[in-house]
This record gives sequence, structure tokens and C-alpha cells, in this order.
Amino acid sequence: MAARKLLILPGDGIGVEVMAQVRRIIDWMAKKRKIEFDVSEGLIGGAAYDVHGTPFPAETLAAAMQADAVLLGAVGGPKWDDLPFDKKPERGLLGIRKEMGLFANLRPATVLDALADASTLKHDVVAGLDIMILRELTGGLYFGEPRGIETLADGSRKGFNTLVYTTPEIVRIGRVAFELARKRGKRLCSVDKANVLECTVLWREEMIKLQKEEFPDVELSHMYVDNAAMQLVRNPKQFDVMVTENMFGDILSDCAAMLTGSLGMLPSASLGAADADGKRKALYEPVHGSAPDIAGKDMANPLATILSFAMCLRYSFDMVAEAEMIETAVKNVLKGGLRTADIMQAGKAKVSTTVMGEAVVRELDKMNA
Ligand code: NAD
Repeated sequence: MAARKLLILPGDGIGVEVMAQVRRIIDWMAKKRKIEFDVSEGLIGGAAYDVHGTPFPAETLAAAMQADAVLLGAVGGPKWDDLPFDKKPERGLLGIRKEMGLFANLRPATVLDALADASTLKHDVVAGLDIMILRELTGGLYFGEPRGIETLADGSRKGFNTLVYTTPEIVRIGRVAFELARKRGKRLCSVDKANVLECTVLWREEMIKLQKEEFPDVELSHMYVDNAAMQLVRNPKQFDVMVTENMFGDILSDCAAMLTGSLGMLPSASLGAADADGKRKALYEPVHGSAPDIAGKDMANPLATILSFAMCLRYSFDMVAEAEMIETAVKNVLKGGLRTADIMQAGKAKVSTTVMGEAVVRELDKMNA
């Protein structure tokens, strides 16, 4: 098969440290399983600004457009806080998402047995949780026009945004959702506010049509967003895949993330439209930021980034067996009692970023023996 082109953008702060642990796994894949990646590395965020005077250089964009998948660490830090808005590291992140046309944001919320007590919810409510929230990322209320703040004739002011989706926008996110559900538990919950918002009446109608025409094997249900928020904390295990518009997804995915208890454990994927061969542009990144408070101290939890790489293997390279190996290795390391500081529990062994990365590789070795 053609070389798998992977672009790595470590970014700033702990992004660099956690990505170094992914490099160990990539090296391991080549050495122990003869799976080669054509890896290149680029700059984004503050690191790119320091060299090129922009957080999103043209060469990074060109490399991202050529890659089969992009793996990103994190961007930002106090060093660049005073830059003008368009030079800030975070603009690099928004820029790459926009240019790659990434409209589907996948946020799994999985509770590993060893960490079930880290959640603020009761053990029974979250133990074994494995759900996927799919958020539409480039449309809806955050991008709709008209938008703005206006001064009215009487001197009062009006602020307004527009919730808008076209049928092609709904269908393309719907397809990603149904395809995901088909690979998981075959249940999709579409979240809307169809009792109040016409735009989401259309959303619901299109989801129903898509299910009938293309995905009759997937069970489709609908839920109003207010109820979905309640159900996520009452009984999250009732869900398999949830799909929703941009702003609802922003809120629900953060809520679901906290069911798992730790920012250092959360991976994500953002996908673009499928090309003629069915391949999608894709960016994989941990949910957390560059954590300036612990950067450079070899303290960061690398597991969110390692699990993002597992998502990359699953969704961009169809390497399900290897993705599962990495996920199992992570579970085993935690079961064995190793913890980085952010997930430390009484009676466990506190380890550094590097030691955690090495431990995951050791578990892979055991599985591969
Ligand atoms: P953050 O996610 O960087 O950190 C929040 C807290 O969680 C900190 O106490 C941090 O130490 C801890 N934390 C985060 N990831 C961790 C990990 N892997 N292991 C252990 N602890 C971890 O969010 P913030 O402090 O609000 O932002 C810091 C910088 O990161 C800012 O410049 C912000 O703009 C940027 N940021 C970037 C992204 C991204 O690149 N996707 C996302 C969020 C924030």
C-alpha cells in the first residue's frame, strides 16, 4: 500500500512533550509490526510565530493538505499572550481547521475502569461508559449570517446571530454520524430543539430521511438538547453515538468530557469531506491545551495524545487492530497502577510523561510477544 503520510505538529508547551511519546509508538510500529509511516513534522502556534512571524505558515498548510492525517499537540502560552489577535497561537488552530474543511468533530467519552472513581459522578453511573459525541464544526449559530451588534433608532443596541443549516450541511454530518454508529453499537441519537427552532426541524427531517434511504440498519432516535444535557449526567450509558449542531455540540461534548474526570485522557478527531476514494482530511488532537503551568517539567499526561493517535489509526488508516492494541495498552498501564500527576490516586505510583510513554510501549511489546 502507498506510504501513510502523517504530519505531526507538536505546537507549544506540553504539546511537544506528549507528542514525543507518540513518536515512540510510531517507531515501535515500524520496528515491531513493520508498519511504516511517512512522518514529517511542522510548526504551528507560538512555535511557528517565533520562526515565521505567523502562527499558521503557508508551508504548514501545504503539508497538511498533502497529508493523509495530521496529528496536533497543543498551541498557546503566556509568551505570546500580548500578540495582536491575528498572530496569536490559537489562530493557527482555527486556521488549520478552517482550511482543511473539518466539519465533523468526534469526541469520545470513555471511562476506563481504573479511572472510574476520578469522575464527579457515582461509580455506577459512569463505569464502563463508552459514548461518542459528534459535533458539527463549521456551520450553525457560530458561523451563521447575519450576525452582529447594531445600534437602533432609539439608541438601544441589538445583538444577533443566526442559526442556519442547509440540507447538504445536515446530510454530510448525518452521514458521518450514521457511519460511526454503524461501526459501533448501531444506535444514533440526533439532538435538536425541534420544538422551538425551525432550523432544527429541518435537521430532524433530514436525519429521518437519511436513515430511511441509506442507513436502515442503524436505530435513530431524537432528543431535545435540554433533555440531552440532563440525560448525559443522569444516565450517560443509554447513548452510543450522539450527533448535533455546532453550539449544542460545544456544550454537550464538554459536559460529556467531564464524565470521564480528566482532561489529560481525552482524545479527539476532526474530519472533512470524503474525496472520490472515500478518504477524508483529518486532524487528531488531545482536547487539552498547552498547559503552561506544567510545561517543560515532564509531568504532562501523554495518554490523550496517544489515544488521539489510536483514533488516527482507526479512522484515517483503517488499522482497527493496532488502534485497539494501543487502547488496551493504555488500559493495562493504568490497571498496573501508573499515574501521571493529573490522575494520581492514593496507593498508585506517580510517574513522568516519559515513563508513562515508555510503559505504554512496554505493554504493546507484551501484547505483540
Ligand atoms: P489547558 O488545557 O492547557 O490546561 C488546563 C489545566 O489542565 C492546567 O492546570 C493544566 O496543567 C492541566 N492539563 C491540561 N492538559 C494536561 C495534561 N495532558 N496532563 C496534565 N495536566 C494537564 O487549558 P488553559 O490553561 O485554559 O490554556 C493554556 C493555553 O492553552 C492557552 O494559551 C490556551 O489558549 C491554550 N489552549 C489550546 C488548546 C489547543 O491547542 N487545542 C485548547 C485549550 C487551550
